[in-house]
Amino acid sequence: MTTSNLDRRDFLKVLGISGAAATLAGCGHTSIESGVEEVISYVHPQDFVVPGIGVFYASTCAQCGSGCGIMGKVREGRVLKLEGNPESGISGGKICGLGQAGVQAHYNPDRLRTPMYQGEGGLIPVSWEKAHQILEQRLGPNSSLKGEQIAFLTDRVSGHQRVLLENFLETFDSTHHVTYDALSTATGRAATKAILGAEQPLWNIHEARLILSFGNDFLGSGISPVYMARQYALFRKAPRGTLIQIEPRMTLTGGNADRWYPIKPGTEGILALGIAHDLLQHEEFSRGVPQEVLDLVKNYDRDAVSDITGIGSDAVRLIAAQLWNNSPSLVIAGPSVEGHSYGFSNAAAVQLLNVILGNRGKTMEGQSEHPFPQLTPTLGSYQALAELNQKMAAGQTQALLIYGTNPVFTAPSHLPFAESMSKVPFKVAFVTHMDETAGQCDLILPLLSALEDFGTHVAEYQPNGVEVMLQQPLMEKLYPESKGYGDILLEVLKKRKPEAYAAFPDYYSYLKTAMVKAKPVFKVSDSDDHFWEDALRNGLVKWDGKPTTLEAKLPALTMPKPAELTTDYPFYFVPSIRADMRDGRHAYLPWLQESPETMTTVVWDSWVEIHPKTAEAMQIKEGDILQIQSATGSVRAKAYLFPGIQPDTVSMPLGQGHTQLGRFATGVGVNPYKILDPIFDGHTGELAMHATRVALRKTGEHQMVVKDEGPTTLQNGQKLVATLSADQAKLSKEI
Ligand code: SF4
Repeated sequence: MTTSNLDRRDFLKVLGISGAAATLAGCGHTSIESGVEEVISYVHPQDFVVPGIGVFYASTCAQCGSGCGIMGKVREGRVLKLEGNPESGISGGKICGLGQAGVQAHYNPDRLRTPMYQGEGGLIPVSWEKAHQILEQRLGPNSSLKGEQIAFLTDRVSGHQRVLLENFLETFDSTHHVTYDALSTATGRAATKAILGAEQPLWNIHEARLILSFGNDFLGSGISPVYMARQYALFRKAPRGTLIQIEPRMTLTGGNADRWYPIKPGTEGILALGIAHDLLQHEEFSRGVPQEVLDLVKNYDRDAVSDITGIGSDAVRLIAAQLWNNSPSLVIAGPSVEGHSYGFSNAAAVQLLNVILGNRGKTMEGQSEHPFPQLTPTLGSYQALAELNQKMAAGQTQALLIYGTNPVFTAPSHLPFAESMSKVPFKVAFVTHMDETAGQCDLILPLLSALEDFGTHVAEYQPNGVEVMLQQPLMEKLYPESKGYGDILLEVLKKRKPEAYAAFPDYYSYLKTAMVKAKPVFKVSDSDDHFWEDALRNGLVKWDGKPTTLEAKLPALTMPKPAELTTDYPFYFVPSIRADMRDGRHAYLPWLQESPETMTTVVWDSWVEIHPKTAEAMQIKEGDILQIQSATGSVRAKAYLFPGIQPDTVSMPLGQGHTQLGRFATGVGVNPYKILDPIFDGHTGELAMHATRVALRKTGEHQMVVKDEGPTTLQNGQKLVATLSADQAKLSKEI
């Protein structure tokens, strides 16, 4: 390999192995240099194809950021099914429904097959030769773009895709990588860091005797659902742990809880302080607690808390007693806690309970250091998108590259992203299929699917030391004119900085070189080729990290209570996150449209959930079409009567309402992002997703809600799925 004009430090940086890895042994030789390639992967499939016999290849699920290791079953050159990879500490051989749908993302008929360019009459297909010409003209070595004139907008991105992206920006003297997450947890992370010194501690769920979850759907749409479900199975084994879930709208995790309490949205912190008030009556807990905290908590006796939260004072006493009697416990918070103008304080008050209960070091630890911090995921926020929007609107952004995110769909209507984007002269989308944001771009580059491309991934939640996950093709590409994200970036980099990148014929060779150079850090003594083959065969490389110690800070907090509901907007509005659709990016997959939503069983639609007693008072029946009106806008949806919701609250699932996401999503349902009010967390500036209030108006129209649940008569008398009402289950007092 030629490294002339490139010193060793630069070379390591190119490969994303500087920093902790700077202590690597000498570079040595690679098989790329010697021209010998022998890889056990599907790149050269002919040796492994046995008609009728399935072969499994390891890779990494790219359907969400949890980084589960998967195995793809391949027969006659086609990937048929995905399973969990038992080698993966995250998935442990399991996979979720969203992960399974990765096969359908790959075979989706709406995948783009050629590059597209925005001509005078609209988007037209162009050749790759033309696409590269355009890229070179705008972003090649003669480009005068510098600093913030260029922006790379992504969802979270990790591994060598992140390294390559940041190296690409660096050639423009830019660090303008904007990470946007439409379901940002930035406020909750900031609050946890303020109390425990770490944004995302490890939760030793199986060690806990009691979990108190304030709206964290860790079994559904949380940070690592497959890993958490495995932990939860252990937690439920003898001695069986107890789960208490408190949230305005029942999530999948809430549906699994021993006790579920509907709380008024935004009052979770007050309830946490009320529970703390009870606990701090006991010297065991109050010892060492700063006077400011004792002073704060003393105002939150059970009756005061009960009035504000809607949780009965007996229930407050019971929860505190359960925590006291079931040590160690674990207290966690989710989106419904942080999604308010005081979300930071709300989430911090919940975390305070962990400190008071002494859960640090028992059921909570800090995640291991990472040997390659540059491979860790960039975590997104709403604030990052808002700042980019301002720069675009002011005409400061001359080129925008977009990968893995669709803000034209997910940005609320008070953030006019599409309009601001139209002021950027050159916009490029890296996508597998058309979406609302790509549709506004000048150049659209069709990507390989995750089952056709190489990559490395690092998960945000690393339960067992550190794993660098390998993604590799499970079959040859379906569409010859699609390309890998890494390959496209590399081609531009070769033009901008040939002395660093010309030696890599493709992203695969870059990735292999980068991983092999990092081998000493993984303490592997095998030959380079064996190390790489093992990495591909196992689908990952492990680093034996150790959990770290969490801090315990007990800062003084102020805890506002939510403003009263008004007659104009008499309902709290909760946008719920579907475990399968997430921010809406997966709505183009018909398996997921067809899968009954976990709490309602509704399919192929949007709906608004309303408590049966509220519906009765308003004479609303299931299927009545309602207008849901906020101060920002309105949408129409069918009423679904749902006992798992706080009576002053209505909820709609996010993810539907697409205008440009292929044949299976376009025109299905409505988009609740667009009615969210411009209310922001006072500490982090993040969008307060749960702070919108709405009014309901009956339109007089009615349509049947299509759902899988129903009386047994709809099951041909066979009771295929026996169902119970809440009253039959004797849960009515709590729900
Ligand atoms: S949790 Fe995420 S990464 Fe894991 S299998 Fe499901 S979709 Fe894939």
